[in-house]
Amino acid sequence: MQKVGFFRSIHVKFVIIYVLLILIAMQIIGIYFAKELEQTLNDNFKNSIIDRVNLLEFSVREEMLRQRTEEDPTLEQSLRTVLSGFSSDDINEVRVIDSKYRILATSELDNQTLVGQRTNVDLIRNSINAESEFENTVLDKTNKRVWVLAEPIIADGEVIASLYIQSNIEKVFGQINEINQILAGGTAFSLGITIVLGILIAQTITRPIADMTKQATAMAKGNFARKVRVYGQDEIGELAKAFNHLTTGLQEAQSSTESERRKLASVLSNMTDGVISTDRKGRIILINDTALGMLGVPREHVLNRPAPAVLGLEQEYTFEDLVDQKEPVTIDFSTDDQPYILRANFSVIQKETGFVNGLIVVLHDITEQEKIEIERREFVSNVSHELRTPLTSMRSYLEALADGAWKDEEIAPSFLHVTQTETERMIRLVSDLLQLSRMDSREYELNIDIVDFVKFFHRIIDRFELMKSKDVQFIRLIPPGPLYTEIDMDKMTQVIDNIISNALKYSPDGGNVQFSVLVEEERLKVSVSDDGMGIPEANVKRIFERFYRADKARSRAMGGTGLGLAIAKEMINAHGGDIWAESEEGRGTTVFFTLPFELEEAGEWD
Ligand code: ATP
Ligand code: MG
Repeated sequence: MQKVGFFRSIHVKFVIIYVLLILIAMQIIGIYFAKELEQTLNDNFKNSIIDRVNLLEFSVREEMLRQRTEEDPTLEQSLRTVLSGFSSDDINEVRVIDSKYRILATSELDNQTLVGQRTNVDLIRNSINAESEFENTVLDKTNKRVWVLAEPIIADGEVIASLYIQSNIEKVFGQINEINQILAGGTAFSLGITIVLGILIAQTITRPIADMTKQATAMAKGNFARKVRVYGQDEIGELAKAFNHLTTGLQEAQSSTESERRKLASVLSNMTDGVISTDRKGRIILINDTALGMLGVPREHVLNRPAPAVLGLEQEYTFEDLVDQKEPVTIDFSTDDQPYILRANFSVIQKETGFVNGLIVVLHDITEQEKIEIERREFVSNVSHELRTPLTSMRSYLEALADGAWKDEEIAPSFLHVTQTETERMIRLVSDLLQLSRMDSREYELNIDIVDFVKFFHRIIDRFELMKSKDVQFIRLIPPGPLYTEIDMDKMTQVIDNIISNALKYSPDGGNVQFSVLVEEERLKVSVSDDGMGIPEANVKRIFERFYRADKARSRAMGGTGLGLAIAKEMINAHGGDIWAESEEGRGTTVFFTLPFELEEAGEWD
């Protein structure tokens, strides 16, 4: 969070506003008060002077109009007496000037020399000429303010003289100054108090705000534990309460969103289907682990990338196409040796207005399904093919017989023999298929016996040795035994019969067939090797598939159905063992299988 600058803080602003308000109010009051006071003091001062001057005017007029005798003092003398009785500390000097502007008397002792001289003071001249009073405030020699007044003395409608008074108004200004100073001091004092109060009051507002700011910052970081202190019942207190309420609400909302999010995340991550969600422009905003695994890409490589490109569909589809795509799309990631097919279903995230907000892609791995489907199709075609071949050959023989060959004593029995072998072959095929189908649907049970595998194996080999039609040497690398195993004898006989008959079938005259039994840690490893034609490297694994024949024409000619090893594999697996083959083309083949075996347990049966 950015820190608020000192001068920008509400705290300082508040104090400044307070101070300015008080200052302005004090100034307005001060100016008005000072003006009024000055006016009143001035008026009072002047009125008191004027009152006295009016008395003086009367005395002076009397003196000037009096008829004088020889014994009487002169006009100047009696005027001086009048003036001397008129002195006071607020009047500096009083002069009497006749209508010819000559000074008749002055109250100021130092200025007695001026008596008899003409005056040239404008105020006096104006007052005498205009027959009315004139006044002014001027500075005297000592730079003090004085109020001067010229008052004409009128008798019988004629100006006979003028009174000129200089009064000391400076005292009034002094008083005003003193009062102004008191006012300024008061202002300063109240400003000081205002500043302190302002700071305190501002704090009551800024502290909860600062608190709330801190809490908002904490909330942004996911900490909802804090609470704002409520300082009072005012608006800020209400705001703090509302803020606390908001915090609780937010916390609840956040935790419910969080739990929803967790639920969704766990659903998404535990889904066996891949889920991808895009924004309205088709860029991936969410992808679960399953989808990442299916596409074989790290998350950071696909986030924010266009979905069609990530799904490898950018050639055929744009994002808009996918939005309109109702049917699932099959995406084939198969390589030459690894089938891998995904099915993608699309659903649009849409607002009520129809505005497309995004797309959800659900990926489903259908490789197994596809594989099964392909196998099923192959199986059906193989079965029909296997059945059709003997049936067509039978039909031609039967047709020939019906056409009259039955009469031929030489041909008829051989033709009948062919149809008989073909029928037997079909029966064998069908019974093999039935057996496989029973195994597929687990509708069989193993009749387990505890058997000495050595004796059991020798007996089967002996049977083949007696019956063999080829000149093949049998080599037995079998430990003396006994080695007790738990097996279903019939089923195991069928397995070993098939392996040995294959070895004989694909061995040349004069070849060797080698039998071995190896006791390993927890199993018996049995193998049958021949030095016959072998199987091409790439096909070795496939010989355990149903109907698979390495060399179709040859094996069919040898009467095989291609189901023998498939059945063997099912049976060995049912016994809890493994079966595999190793082969080299032209050099021979070895078929291995294992059976579970425990040495110690076997000892008990010794
Ligand atoms: P069936 O056993 O049903 O009579 P089959 O022998 O052809 O028919 P499998 O036993 O399943 O069928 O064997 C499958 C194929 O594996 C054979 O057709 C053959 O091509 C090949 N094969 C099996 N064993 C050998 C072997 N020892 N040498 C060479 N090829 C073999
Ligand atoms: Mg076989």
